Amino acid sequence: MECLFCKGPMEKATAPFSVDRKGYHVHWDSLPAWVCKQCGEPYFEGQEVDRIQMALDALDRENPSPSRSAQPVREVHPRS
Ligand SMILES: [Zn+2]
Repeated sequence: MECLFCKGPMEKATAPFSVDRKGYHVHWDSLPAWVCKQCGEPYFEGQEVDRIQMALDALDRENPSPSRSAQPVREVHPRS
């Protein structure tokens, strides 16, 4: 396997991964990944992508109203 960007050699390592969704941010410090020795670009394998997707799906189920988390709530006061 070689890097898509620089054609450098890849090695099995771990890489951080984060996702921004509506209303929340999910971050993994170290997920198993192939990392380019030359430019450091990480590639996640299918099973890790599945794991990320499952975690996000679980979060979506736990947070049916995504707007309730850390984002500031803008109150609207219409002038009549
Ligand atoms: Zn590379």
